[in-house]
Amino acid sequence: MRTSRCPLCGGERRFHIEKFGRRIDACAACGTAGVEPLPSDAEIRAIYTLPYFQGDRSRYGYTDYAAESAQHARSFALRAALLEELLPRRGGPRRVLDIGCANGSFLAALGPGWEKHGIEVSEDFLRASPPPPEIRMFVGDALDFPEDRGPFDAVTLFDVLDHVPRPLAMLDKAVRLLRPGGVLVVQQGDRMSLFARLLGRRWHIYIPPTHLWYFTHSGLHRFLRERGLRVARDVFEPRWASLSLCLFRLSYILPSGLVDPFRRLLDDTALGRLSVRFNFRDVVTVYARKADA
Ligand SMILES: [Zn+2]
Repeated sequence: MRTSRCPLCGGERRFHIEKFGRRIDACAACGTAGVEPLPSDAEIRAIYTLPYFQGDRSRYGYTDYAAESAQHARSFALRAALLEELLPRRGGPRRVLDIGCANGSFLAALGPGWEKHGIEVSEDFLRASPPPPEIRMFVGDALDFPEDRGPFDAVTLFDVLDHVPRPLAMLDKAVRLLRPGGVLVVQQGDRMSLFARLLGRRWHIYIPPTHLWYFTHSGLHRFLRERGLRVARDVFEPRWASLSLCLFRLSYILPSGLVDPFRRLLDDTALGRLSVRFNFRDVVTVYARKADA
């Protein structure tokens, strides 16, 4: 049996699955599975250029991220509403930082009354699809974000931690940027969810090396608890996507020869742009509060 050491908790990992020529080991202690060995930083950086957001299937990104903006707005509206509820407005604007914000669709979903900051690593995506001007952008690696720009009332990490080589360093950074009593939001796939276990290695979230880590709901709680955060809410939120993007994602699960003819028929049609609501309860959004000083 091939084993490795878990870089997140030090526990022993065993071989879990192999996919796209990459080996993924799973840790019994913290539940997290990870690509073994991790790709180099240069290899990881090379993924997030424009084709990632515009339908390069080898990168497992998006068909056309910018064109999905109406779907993103619907998906993000629920999360924005919950954040508003957990951080009621008192006096001045609340400060929020969205790490891995793409073109700012989550920040745009938050109403007025917020000072909005975003971090995005993909420079050429931002050039092609600029965020709204009210968002103060930092272009680069979140680990390089100046900490004197904090503290924030809310820091959000939607589907980000599984893309970065040192997810706990990023989580530590997010917690440092948060004021006492502030809210951290982390959203990730849950590889122990029923849907993920039913699909096994065909689960569409197993896409190495785009996703380097595969978290579990309880493991995420552990990582947050260890950093002095208290979970306030767990939500399995519905999402919306265009029918075209659903088929694109389906082509990760089923043989693409089966799915691609339908995709080609629907591309750039009204039917392809049709909005589909789905919830496999395999993605969890955890809202956690930092202890008061
Ligand atoms: Zn571990």
